Amino acid sequence: MLAKPLTLKDAIALDAADPLAHLRDLFELKPGTIFMDANSIGPMPKAVRQSAEGLLDDWVALRRRGWSNRQWLDMPSRLGDAIAPMIGAGPGEVVVCDSTTINQFKAVAHCLAINHPRSVVLSQNGNFPTDVHVIQGMIEASRGRLSLRFIDTEQEAIAAMDETVAVAALSHVDYRSGERWDMKRVTEAAHAKGVLTVWDTSHSAGAVPVALRESRTDMAIGCGYKYLCTGPGGPAYIYARQEIADAVWPALAGWMGHADVFGFTRDFAPHPGVKRFIAGTPAVAANELAKALLDIWPKIDPQKLWARHRSLTDLLIQLLDQECGSLGIEVTSPRDHDRRGGNVSFRSPGAGSVVEALIDHGVVSSFRKPDAIRFGVSPLVISHQDIHETVARLKRILVEDIWKQPKYKKVSV
Ligand SMILES: *Cc1c(COP(=O)(O)O)cnc(C)c1O
Repeated sequence: MLAKPLTLKDAIALDAADPLAHLRDLFELKPGTIFMDANSIGPMPKAVRQSAEGLLDDWVALRRRGWSNRQWLDMPSRLGDAIAPMIGAGPGEVVVCDSTTINQFKAVAHCLAINHPRSVVLSQNGNFPTDVHVIQGMIEASRGRLSLRFIDTEQEAIAAMDETVAVAALSHVDYRSGERWDMKRVTEAAHAKGVLTVWDTSHSAGAVPVALRESRTDMAIGCGYKYLCTGPGGPAYIYARQEIADAVWPALAGWMGHADVFGFTRDFAPHPGVKRFIAGTPAVAANELAKALLDIWPKIDPQKLWARHRSLTDLLIQLLDQECGSLGIEVTSPRDHDRRGGNVSFRSPGAGSVVEALIDHGVVSSFRKPDAIRFGVSPLVISHQDIHETVARLKRILVEDIWKQPKYKKVSV
């Protein structure tokens, strides 16, 4: 027997029963636009406008007290504590600072120092380029002491762990396919061979379950501006288990990671714990834009948010199959939510042009060569009705050959 086709009515019923449906009211959304691109940038909390104005007022007045009132110095830790539950970390284990690229350097260098003289770094062929480039730069600077070993699958990663490997620097979720790795399983296999782990959780944090503590990973890093909504170019995060953080100095030792920041001593002494990874002055302006999150993330039950993401993306996959399966759309992300990250990817004829046409029809998403479309689903603001409407618009673009219009030939990335 065929299952009954899903309709708009089903989407409305799912929204009515959704305990987190009210969350979208905290965000300023462009009317008529469905934002399916949270894997590039997350939505803007309404409270951001006010903190941005206050920041500019304080700047004009050069108010020193204004800065202190903004707690600019503590913001890396306060923001870190706010997002910690979303990545399965505890208070004091995460700081928000710098970019993912820079935090990758700090984390990999830290693990290499702890595991000296082991010299091999393990990573995925399909890892996000910057994560690999950072390692390649370190190898170049090491003048041949360090080397990189690439693997493709979880099984290969586990098999590649041996006494030569210092650190496995892996992405939790493949940014193209959306496939999520089993962090605990791989970390256990690494530890059995004395290998330390650094996980990049850019495409899982704030969307799907991440359990840093429980998986006993040594360090983790990730983007703030994606599902976590720290804003355009907003700061990233870094996590370290206490004993790992305290084992050696940070390779990027700066005055803000000093045990006594305003002691102005000549010689470095690392702050205990993860705070040693704060290198220089926090990005005060960027943190002001991120500050609205202090009132959002701590109030959300992570289990409920992850369940909502599961419900939204399960519906999305079912509707893509049902409505667009015969039009050449093929979902390439894992069907099992436990193996998916924040985004759902699918193949489409003329994928780049379809994404352009979608933008014109009020759906923002992203294209990845050669033929992949990614829908990054933010469980904070996307509703089941949005999902239904998105697939309806996509279907129209395909059925009516709208994507073949000359104006959609030019594809922007
Ligand atoms: C988005 C993303 C980055 C981006 O790093 P930046 O330093 O912010 O440019 C890095 N790694 C992964 C896995 C990403 O998804």
